[in-house]
Parts: sequence; structure tokens; C-alpha cells
Amino acid sequence: MSRRPPAEVRRKLRQEANFGCVECGCPVIEYHHIDFYADEEHHDPDRMVVLCPNHHAHAGPNSEALTPDQLYESKKNPANGDVVDSPFHFESEIPLLQVSSNKCWLRENESIDVLNVKDETLVEMSFIDGLLQFDTKLYSQQGELVAEVDHNEWSAKTDGVWDIQYQPNRIKIWHEPRDIGLEIEYDSETDLIQMRGNFYYEDVFVRMTPEKINVKSDEGVQQLMVKNSTVIDRESFLEVSKENDNYRVALG
Ligand SMILES: [Zn+2]
Repeated sequence: MSRRPPAEVRRKLRQEANFGCVECGCPVIEYHHIDFYADEEHHDPDRMVVLCPNHHAHAGPNSEALTPDQLYESKKNPANGDVVDSPFHFESEIPLLQVSSNKCWLRENESIDVLNVKDETLVEMSFIDGLLQFDTKLYSQQGELVAEVDHNEWSAKTDGVWDIQYQPNRIKIWHEPRDIGLEIEYDSETDLIQMRGNFYYEDVFVRMTPEKINVKSDEGVQQLMVKNSTVIDRESFLEVSKENDNYRVALG
């Protein structure tokens, strides 16, 4: 048996804890065997719990700080409730966003609507005081605002999303299985930020994958595929609007 719990066990533990340490809610989590793995090799989710690195250090066999009884209690009543939030740690000094194979360059103290659908800004970037800032709104297919990044702070409704995986330089939020709402990754080596996701807004659906961006509406009125574009010095990158029953997709 591998020491690492299977993916479905890890996900079950994240979901029951509302995507954070059961003791403090911190979204950076590790998987702890309340009945120690060294005593019995198991990955039984009923006898495991998610903890942040700090609380995990206090739950080991040589620590008295967090007893199994306390952990079982916290597992039933996790620190996180209906909404989770955390800062998103990136400090990119390059005014560039990569969306699939597309690039948006920003100027100093300028912002750009990376994705605007029917006058709603779903993704916005700005470059303020030499640092890149990031804002997004993530709606469910049913039209509910379920997750947001607001000036590099992210938050999500725990019952509105299926799963959240968080590391300081990377966040991944799922609407449903196989439906990634949003993934943002910051590579501190190259200082670049990349994003992908499935954005729903009213009857418009925008899918951003590493290869391309696809835009379509329920009615299938208009479909557009965008790749290898570079936008410099514009107010918006991708704008989807509706005029007299006709969809208009504008780039740059
Ligand atoms: Zn903790």
C-alpha cells in the first residue's frame, strides 16, 4: 500500500473539512492518519483528517498537543464554514498574463478586462506599483456566484463548488467532476501566471484550455476559437456581447 492516500480519499477529506485544516481553516493542507499509519497501514477516510502543516506537526505520535479524540471532534466540526478564503500568494513583476496560447501585456498602472461577457467582467488584470493583480468571478452553470479572486484574495462558497485544491502558488476550483471552473498557476521561476477555466455567464460559456479559448452560447449562435493572439495596450482582451439576438465576440 502506498503511503499517499488515493485521490478519492483525499478529495472526500477535503470536502468534509470544507477545503481547509479542521483546526484552523488554513487552505494549505496535508492528510493525517488519526489511527497512525505506522501502527496500521490504512487509508480509511473515517479515520483520517486534513490538517495544515502547523497543526499536522502537533498531531504526530510524539506530540501530545492534538489527541485522536480532539481530532475526531474537529473532523465532525471543522473550522471552515460556508465560505472559505485566503490570500493568493504571487508577486509577479512581469506585466503579462498567459491565457492558453494567448498573451496579454499590461502597462504600468493599467488594467485590462481579460474576459468580459455581457458587460460583466469575469477576469480582470492590473499592473499596479510594479505588481500584477488579479480579479475573477466564477459563476455556476445555474448562475450563482460561487468563487471570486479579488485583488489576489480568493474566496469560495463551500457548497457551491465540488472541490478546491490550493497551494500558495496554485489554486484549482472545480464546479463538478471534469468541470474545472478555474485554475491559476504562478511559476515563481519564470514569474509568469497562467490560467484556465470554464466560465459560465447567463447563456454564454467560455472554455479556456492550455491550447485555446472557446466561446459558445446555448443557442449555438456563435462559436469562436482563439489561439496564439497577443494583446497589447487595449482595454479588453475578449469581450462577448449580445445585440438584437446576435452575439458579438470581439478580440482586443
Ligand atoms: Zn491548522
